[in-house]
Amino acid sequence: LAEKIQSAIGKIAKKGRIDEETLNKGLREIKLALLEADVNYKVVSDFIKDIKEKALGAKVTKGVTAVQQLVKIVHDELVKTLGEKAEPLNLKSKPSVILLIGLQGSGKTTTSAKLAKLLKKQGKKVLLTSVDIYRPAAMLQLKKLGEQISVPVFLEENEKDAAKIAEDALKKAKKEGYDVLIVDTAGRLHIDEEMLKEAKEIKERIHPDEVLFVSDAMTGQEAVNIAKAFDENVGMTGIVLTKLDSDARGGVALSVKGVTGKPIKFAGVGEKIDDFEPFYPDRVASRILGMGDVVSLVEKAQEVIDEEEALSMQEKLLSGEFTLEDFKKQLEMIQRMGPIKQLIKMIPGLSSQKMLKQLDKAIDDKKLKRIEAIINSMTPEERRNHAIINASRKRRIARGSGTSVKDVDALLKQFAQAKMMMKQMKKMQKKMAKKGGKF
Ligand code: GDP
Ligand code: MG
Repeated sequence: LAEKIQSAIGKIAKKGRIDEETLNKGLREIKLALLEADVNYKVVSDFIKDIKEKALGAKVTKGVTAVQQLVKIVHDELVKTLGEKAEPLNLKSKPSVILLIGLQGSGKTTTSAKLAKLLKKQGKKVLLTSVDIYRPAAMLQLKKLGEQISVPVFLEENEKDAAKIAEDALKKAKKEGYDVLIVDTAGRLHIDEEMLKEAKEIKERIHPDEVLFVSDAMTGQEAVNIAKAFDENVGMTGIVLTKLDSDARGGVALSVKGVTGKPIKFAGVGEKIDDFEPFYPDRVASRILGMGDVVSLVEKAQEVIDEEEALSMQEKLLSGEFTLEDFKKQLEMIQRMGPIKQLIKMIPGLSSQKMLKQLDKAIDDKKLKRIEAIINSMTPEERRNHAIINASRKRRIARGSGTSVKDVDALLKQFAQAKMMMKQMKKMQKKMAKKGGKF
């Protein structure tokens, strides 16, 4: 999806300004990309309509290119659709009740424990309960998780009325002065009337402060129908998006939020109990666009380097032919611009998290100064061809830069790795260009 949007935006960029025809064409491609990513059709339509109004209404600000303007508009609209900022839990009653609903496997039981730990850390006295009367293993699973985080789990293993268990748990929570009761429910693999009825009955009998719909980020198009069914038949106050650590396309966030209008409050980002965080719409928007903090950075970059300079730098980076001399020039530019990670995010097509991680390892901001000192101590010829640097030169370079031979070796190794990576990226870009060629 990210590549598709980028390629669509890239095409608009070549025209240099946002006229209606170009905009229509670009947005059509963005729309196709979103649909291909299984975002609900209506959500996509609303989204595109919003962008179109904004993009057509907006003048291209002086000093900013049309592409930068459109990126910002698309990004802002994504953030807006996703809900601007993370909404906290709304816990008013004592004890407060949180009911988790969703399909089997969506992550309800895991999320129950994650939430319990989070609230416990906030100093709340938390009680967990499972009303999954169909699978004894599910109750056992919660019991084990509760032990892990030292949160008591209320169970009635022989009770066959799920709502009754929930009521009994609430009674206990009241009597024993708990602040929060978290109710983990049973789910089916598919939307099922009985399951919805049961969830609704539990809800009516315990009056939860929060009904959180747990949605698996990897569900794709189906997520919309599931969310809709739960919202219409049970009702929900918020959404937890799980498995955001997977390669999920982020599209589910957009459609579930769009279709229910309910805030996404938390994100599950792994199987461990601590892999849980407030939902950050701007992060997910950036992820959907695949352009990191492009919006603010492009603006910042605009102040310090002109586009041509950036483009030729990018060409060199990706050609795999850059030398330590180029490396040094880039370092100077980067230092004017801020953290290198953000710069890397800015280069179109480099959205892959894996690449970023590798690059992070290879080039660390804190080491920039030292790297620059080392390169400064090299002769121009050495900078152009680092292969000629022998052991005695390494010693002299280290002395000259106030570093050690180990540092010089490390830099040369990193440089070689970076160069390799750039070559790989170039290949990847070519591949992507081929794949995207059907536009
Ligand atoms: P339930 O059937 O809705 O109660 O789902 P579970 O809580 O049992 O989770 C189903 C599977 O998804 C388990 O293997 C969990 O470890 C896994 N899981 C839940 N949340 C996350 C998450 O945020 N990231 C990842 N990677 N796995 C998760
Ligand atoms: Mg479960």
